Amino acid sequence: MQQKPKILLIYTGGTIGMMKDPKSGVLKAFDFANLLKRIPELRLLSCDITALSFKEPIDSSNMNPKFWVQISEIIESSYDRFDGFVVLHGSDTMSYTASALSFMLENLAKPVILTGSQLPIGDLRTDAKENLITSIQMASLQENNQPIVREVGLYFEYKLYRGNRTTKINAEHFEAFESFNYPNLAESGVHLKVNHEALFVPDVNEKLLVHKHFDTNIVLVKMFPGISDTILECMVNHPSIKGIVLETYGAGNATTEKWFVNALKKAIERGVQVVNVTQCPGGSVNMGQYETSSELKQIGVISGKDMTSETAVAKLMYMLGEKISSNSFKTMFEASLRGEIT
Ligand code: ASP
Repeated sequence: MQQKPKILLIYTGGTIGMMKDPKSGVLKAFDFANLLKRIPELRLLSCDITALSFKEPIDSSNMNPKFWVQISEIIESSYDRFDGFVVLHGSDTMSYTASALSFMLENLAKPVILTGSQLPIGDLRTDAKENLITSIQMASLQENNQPIVREVGLYFEYKLYRGNRTTKINAEHFEAFESFNYPNLAESGVHLKVNHEALFVPDVNEKLLVHKHFDTNIVLVKMFPGISDTILECMVNHPSIKGIVLETYGAGNATTEKWFVNALKKAIERGVQVVNVTQCPGGSVNMGQYETSSELKQIGVISGKDMTSETAVAKLMYMLGEKISSNSFKTMFEASLRGEIT
């Protein structure tokens, strides 16, 4: 007889785990030890669920690499005992965590699905139950006793996305995420429809390797008309800076003013890694297509191609943390490590 998949549910915090106190009407963190009692629908799923929670659940606006390490260690220590993992997380920084986990969990061959909700699980019109139940189902999908999804995914409002391709796009609609540059991995309608061609194919012969070092000495700079030389130079020349993610216009364009290009050039010469991503939600950086990006290419700016800013930030902190040598940094950054680049 086929065994039921074993799913580990990890509650880190966020709206999804809250309930309204019936007396005071105040939103309070939900006791995840009693999850099955509170959501009896979970018993109908054909999998065995174990739930655990952060001691002090957080609003995801307080997320940082220390918590990423905590999540990865929970997955690492229970990897062999479970067939899939569902991480409940606030939606605000979920795309950053999904990206970070994708880099941390090298050779991941099981599903790690992040989900959350716009309304608390105890709310009458909540989107939490559907998101939670279907995420568990996505994590339980198997073929010949092997998991179908073998990467870090993000499930929200009927869609499973590759986690490191997502961006939070809406603070109001239930459809809060979008993956502009990569197709959905699966959709939930009357049936769960998996887009097999879009799924990541890991090397199953390699063991899971968990990377836990992030270097946070980076800055994210969004270009805008009128950007100030003194302020930009302050950031770029700061003694602790090791990396810059530059959110440029369109296909990777920026002002051609001398002070701007020189500031970046000097930083690159000092060993600072400068990455170019577009501030457009969709599309890709293509340095050299316009005159306004050819100098960036010449001075050695790294192309983030069609990576999201969230992923570029996580990848930069990850690669700096891994102390990747300056010789191979650009080549490695411009390569797809976990399906984050097309
Ligand atoms: N501020 C909340 C958080 O990100 C919003 C949510 O849960 O969706 O933790």
